Amino acid sequence: MLDTGQTAPLTLEVAERVRESRNVVSFRFKVVEGDLAPFTAGQYLPIRLGLPERPISTYTISSDPRDRSGYRISVKLEPEGKGGSRHLHEAAEVGARFLAERAARQVRPGRG
Ligand SMILES: Cc1cc2nc3c(=O)[nH]c(=O)nc-3n(C[C@H](O)[C@H](O)[C@H](O)COP(=O)(O)OP(=O)(O)OC[C@H]3O[C@@H](n4cnc5c(N)ncnc54)[C@H](O)[C@@H]3O)c2cc1C
Repeated sequence: MLDTGQTAPLTLEVAERVRESRNVVSFRFKVVEGDLAPFTAGQYLPIRLGLPERPISTYTISSDPRDRSGYRISVKLEPEGKGGSRHLHEAAEVGARFLAERAARQVRPGRG
């Protein structure tokens, strides 16, 4: 769902979705607005979902950093959670748009 009420560095569009297992779906996003800054595998992508209990959900980027067409993430459905994963599983069909923050570095234990 595109939350147009806020500014965000990136607008992403679902280019492909692949069911990996009963409860995991992978999404490939292309960037339709903003710059796809260089990233490394394992960096994470904060996606603005705009849900009351889950305004932002964060996912690890699993695509090849040399692939400059966008980002790939895999999302495990958490049926009892606050709704972030359920929203992506239900609403992120091909063509759906989302706002996202810039990809950030992986949090390393002990480094804050
Ligand atoms: C740096 C980072 C990277 C991440 N990368 C990934 C990734 O690559 N793929 C991925 O799938 N997720 C990833 N996550 C997790 C992701 O951000 C979400 O937390 C996840 O999608 C679940 O979100 P949710 O809102 O559906 O559930 P959440 O509310 O976050 O639920 C999380 C857990 O709490 C349990 N829970 C919540 N509420 C209750 C309750 N009332 N009673 C019992 N149990 C409850 C859920 O069953 C679940 O096990 C990452 C998180 C971080 C911080």
